[in-house]
Amino acid sequence: MARSNREYGLATTVLHGGRVATPPGSPVVQPLYQSVNFGQETGTADGMIYPRYGNNPNAESVQRRLALLEGAEAALVLGSGMGATACAMLALLRPGDHLVASAWVYGGTRTLLETELALMGIDVTFVDPMETRGWRKALRKKTRAIFLETPVNPTCRVLDLRPVRFLTEANGLALVVDSTFASPINFRPFEHGADVVIHSATKYLNGHHDVLAGVVLGTAQYIEEVREKMTLWGQAPDPFACWLLERGLKTLSVRVERQNVNAMRVAEWCAARREVRRVHYPGLEAHPDHEIALFTQRGFGGMLGIELTGGAKAADKFLRRLLLITHAPSLGGVESLVSEPRFSSHSHLSAAERTAIGIPDGFVRFSIGIEDADDLIADIEQALR
Ligand SMILES: *Cc1c(COP(=O)(O)O)cnc(C)c1O
Repeated sequence: MARSNREYGLATTVLHGGRVATPPGSPVVQPLYQSVNFGQETGTADGMIYPRYGNNPNAESVQRRLALLEGAEAALVLGSGMGATACAMLALLRPGDHLVASAWVYGGTRTLLETELALMGIDVTFVDPMETRGWRKALRKKTRAIFLETPVNPTCRVLDLRPVRFLTEANGLALVVDSTFASPINFRPFEHGADVVIHSATKYLNGHHDVLAGVVLGTAQYIEEVREKMTLWGQAPDPFACWLLERGLKTLSVRVERQNVNAMRVAEWCAARREVRRVHYPGLEAHPDHEIALFTQRGFGGMLGIELTGGAKAADKFLRRLLLITHAPSLGGVESLVSEPRFSSHSHLSAAERTAIGIPDGFVRFSIGIEDADDLIADIEQALR
């Protein structure tokens, strides 16, 4: 394969990014090396391959591609999104350090930061990410990093990174962004001041509801530190997971573009229904972050929330009547899914607490897939009736 030095577009990068030149007769698809052992050169420790180090050929191939896709120096694939977040934090923070984090993060992340980091003597302050001055007020002498997630689950709020970036740059802090909901097709956080980007590759990057994996991206030096943590804490992925992730990644661009279109169609349709009190989708002008999403994202995403006028009872009936859209908690795959935050991500809060943060009972979250939009709408319509 001849190589070009030109920087490819994202749709080309998901297919070819980081491919190495191979002679005629080579397989077009990166072969699966389902082996944990590789022959080692005698008389040296150099070049030792072992999957737990993240250097098996399938890990290296997909890592090169992910780094190009996000515009990072280096990438590391781990066994899950939580494994990625945990090792990213272990490599960044030491006992006595302080972390400022958005209060609106994935539930598992929240528990990890709140309980596990505390056990290691690392303090965390959670702030309301929409209160711009809150970030500055939370800073301490020992603050090392700011952690946030955008877009936010399940209200699809989109954060403006400009005030945060200003703070991290002025104070020499690391800005860590969990970009799982956006995928690099819709948002590239390094272009907006991020120093570290994390993905649950279980979601959009793989996109087929069949792989558990996570990714950390950043400078080559930082990624080596994350690799050390991953190796010692045993958070590396299996070669087959890397191979599947590379395969899933090839269609990321077409999948996400289709999901953007489908979700917009569903959002517009739902917004006109009297059974729906409110639609949470950044593509709609009524969404509080429509402007910021318009200026920073290349697409509005495949996630959307609706509030049913009939509340909890209506939501229960609605979910039981859906035929095409599966009730399941995860997101980002080709099949459309639906879930209720009161029984998934926000089950630890009371109904009143959920209402206070904009997720009243009757709130239903969709992860829109790549089906025909007309079929999705027809399914929602028959379930609302
Ligand atoms: C799912 C998810 C995670 C955790 O990822 P796993 O692959 O399930 O470990 C982290 N952050 C966000 C935003 C997620 O949606």
